[in-house]
Amino acid sequence: MNGLAGRWATEELEALSSRGLLRHLEPLTSAQGPTVVLSGNETLINFSSNDYLGLANDPALKAAAASALQAFGVGAAASRLITGDSTHHRTLEHAIAQLEGTEAALLFNSGYAANVGLLSTVCGEGDVIFSDALNHASVIDGCRLSRAKTVVFPHRDVAALARLIATHPGRRRLVVTDTIFSMDGDRAPLKEISALCEQTEVALMVDEAHATGVCGPTGAGLCEELGVAADLRMGTLSKALGAFGAYVACTADVRQWLFNRARSVVFSTSLPPAICAAATASISRVRFDSGPRDALWRNIRFFAAGLRQLGLPAHEDSAIFPVVLGPPEKALAASRRLRDAGLLVKPIRPPTVPEGTSRLRFALSAGHTEEHLTRALKALEAVHGR
Ligand SMILES: *Cc1c(COP(=O)(O)O)cnc(C)c1O
Repeated sequence: MNGLAGRWATEELEALSSRGLLRHLEPLTSAQGPTVVLSGNETLINFSSNDYLGLANDPALKAAAASALQAFGVGAAASRLITGDSTHHRTLEHAIAQLEGTEAALLFNSGYAANVGLLSTVCGEGDVIFSDALNHASVIDGCRLSRAKTVVFPHRDVAALARLIATHPGRRRLVVTDTIFSMDGDRAPLKEISALCEQTEVALMVDEAHATGVCGPTGAGLCEELGVAADLRMGTLSKALGAFGAYVACTADVRQWLFNRARSVVFSTSLPPAICAAATASISRVRFDSGPRDALWRNIRFFAAGLRQLGLPAHEDSAIFPVVLGPPEKALAASRRLRDAGLLVKPIRPPTVPEGTSRLRFALSAGHTEEHLTRALKALEAVHGR
């Protein structure tokens, strides 16, 4: 061994460090929750998790997982098409299809795997994908992997999208957009996009990662809330649903096409049955008990009002609140100061967000108390200055 990879690493790490972009891992020594303990026994109010409904450590989910774990063991041991399929996978897919009001649903091992697998299956050479400029990295990677021509449209700009659709013919054409954007927390103009797709015979795929469980009367997502239909609806089990994995809600034919052809399904061991059981329990909770969702939206309104009082812009579109600071060093410094005040708010820097838009990103949970939120607002006031 000549140590080459080690030298490459040193060079790259130095380059990242000099740009303020080097990142570190920090293990938790507690379960997820509105407060968490980090290594070193530091207890912090957690504003950096996607556990929007506080279900990641929920007793009913844990009980469902524990019982499936006892019966089915830990690993699924093979892909779905071989022996990695189980009744827990089927039950979960039925629960998802019922939640989403679709004929069928197919599980993926993560949201990342879903976007990459879905886009690279449904589109290929000669096709055109129209993708919002702020779509998640996994959507971008799916577009690249598909080898379709990817046309990026300006963020949330339906008029620009219409012009691009008019000037880019193709065999199959697909618009793809996040419904809630992960780093800004704003919403796609879904009604307008869906109407445009209808008129122009373009298919619509949506990524509901931050809307699943959060939006809509039964938590199915923003499509449900707005009464919009999308051909391909991707959602996650890993964020508000507190479990792991993801799905595409679709027709039975699309499901069969995907489990035959999507490489992230065909060539990857399926989800552990116990995780599927936990996700199924989570979906019944989310569908039939709006309590956690109502608590989350109360927190969203409270926090947004507090931010506005500080003179900061705030939407009430989602549980995600960016406070954009600009250079990465500024976001790092602000995050450190909040941490001294007992708050965990991770700085978000490029490549997760565009250059010059490094930020603090507050993600709220149903489990946050008014006191947690008030402490965050006070600390933010001190950091941001008036
Ligand atoms: C988190 C996220 C994903 C990836 O989901 P995982 O289950 O974490 O892999 C995909 N799309 C968006 C918009 C996300 O925020």
